[in-house]
Amino acid sequence: MKPKIIFIHPPVAKPSEPPAGIARLSACLKANSVEHQVVDANLEGILWLMRSASRDGTARSKWDFRSFKNLEGNLHALRSIDTFHEKSRYTRAVVDLNHALNMACQPYGAMLTLSDYTDKKLSPVKSGDLIAAAENPEANPFYPYFLKRLTQAMEETPEYIGFSLNFLSQAICTLAMIGFIKREHPRQKIVLGGSLTTSWVQITGRSDFFTGLVDEVIAGAGEEKLLDLLGAEDIQRTGFTDYSLVTDKPYLSPGFVLPYSTARGCWWRKCAFCPETAEGNPYLPLSPARDAEELRTITEKTGPSLIHILDSSIAPVRLQAMAQQPPGIPWYGFARVTEHLTNEDFCRELKAGGCVMLKLGIESGDQCVLDSLNKGIDLKTASAALKTITGAGIATYCYFLFGTPQENEASAVKTLDFASRHAGCIHFLNLAVFNLPAGSAQAQNLATSDFYEGDLSLYKNFQHPDGWQRAHVRNFLQKKFKKHPAIVPILARTPEFFTSNHAPFFTF
Ligand code: SF4
Repeated sequence: MKPKIIFIHPPVAKPSEPPAGIARLSACLKANSVEHQVVDANLEGILWLMRSASRDGTARSKWDFRSFKNLEGNLHALRSIDTFHEKSRYTRAVVDLNHALNMACQPYGAMLTLSDYTDKKLSPVKSGDLIAAAENPEANPFYPYFLKRLTQAMEETPEYIGFSLNFLSQAICTLAMIGFIKREHPRQKIVLGGSLTTSWVQITGRSDFFTGLVDEVIAGAGEEKLLDLLGAEDIQRTGFTDYSLVTDKPYLSPGFVLPYSTARGCWWRKCAFCPETAEGNPYLPLSPARDAEELRTITEKTGPSLIHILDSSIAPVRLQAMAQQPPGIPWYGFARVTEHLTNEDFCRELKAGGCVMLKLGIESGDQCVLDSLNKGIDLKTASAALKTITGAGIATYCYFLFGTPQENEASAVKTLDFASRHAGCIHFLNLAVFNLPAGSAQAQNLATSDFYEGDLSLYKNFQHPDGWQRAHVRNFLQKKFKKHPAIVPILARTPEFFTSNHAPFFTF
């Protein structure tokens, strides 16, 4: 039967696991007997580009030659757990794969990595630039791939092609693909959804950025609107996530990684710097009993090597449910630092239930900064939690944030002091420079200007009240934080490009 819709997961996102949003839509359409297909153009396009570069590209240096020659071996290495037992072998494989990808896109004036895409001339936050990408799809490095793949998809004569746009790194390639379809098949209807599309609609209050290119923009959870659009009657709401259309794809991880959400939105939703707070997204959890049952069912069907819990922050009640009804497969995800995580028995139960790594947003080592950010954690609890979690054998991936309006250099030094004193309990690190969400309450009280000078920018530039500007923050991170002898080994352990998506495999 011909598909009513073909979903496209556009480049560029980390090609280590399948797209979760499309799997949710797929389950919903299946439950309502709507024929559909999924194209992971991200994974397919990245593999296509690397292989075509190694086949046709000119090797000018020893590194070029090595990257091309070892391409298949390096792809194989990232799918083998043995590689993750030796960090230097992993690093060599990832860096060489990335180099091959880089070489492939050089003629196009684009900068492509395994986790990002930037264009020298086009900005992903200017609707005019995105429309320009649609008007000139040949200029996109993925053009030779999608010319063939989308032409093949169009032979199925779907009523709709749906694009799931979640990251800025996908925006230019998404519009290039849409532009190609509209030029070759002007009557083809295009649907645009995904979390970035949702943020654009929320921030601008508009949905007409790509008139003439996109027929339907779906902001927020898309299931109902999509079913309506596709003419489903007597809508069934069973089935949450279905990966059957992508399980056999050659993702760059050792075994199938199963991404799974137990909730939409964040249960805390108070941190002043966070888009969840600024955008006022509601917290919509599944019932713990139902999600435990569904997780068990999908796990049996897909046979994953790892479960990635996608929640912005796994609520304590969910952590408890995961410990009591373990999925039987190693898992990891984001948790807030709460008293629960200072309880040794609780952490041991989590570990016994398969938890191999917790991502923790500690953000600052200065209690005043944490309080004014509404983070809702205290450093004594964070310190005890780090010791208890690692004592139970669970790895920690800690996130620190620099350059918030509440922070100054003295506070950042306190963060360095906290991180270095707890280096033995921090396995992996993420150090981020603060971006001010455009719709946040903070943005109303600061002298701001457009961050990227783009009409679709999610962030604003601001005058720091203490003069702790981004350039100073970056300088501090490069010259002090990252050079601290206690921090250097943590950063060396942290996986290049794939970061937290691959980190759990280093704990196996
Ligand atoms: S806990 Fe995390 S996701 Fe939730 S509001 Fe704070 S930063 Fe955002």
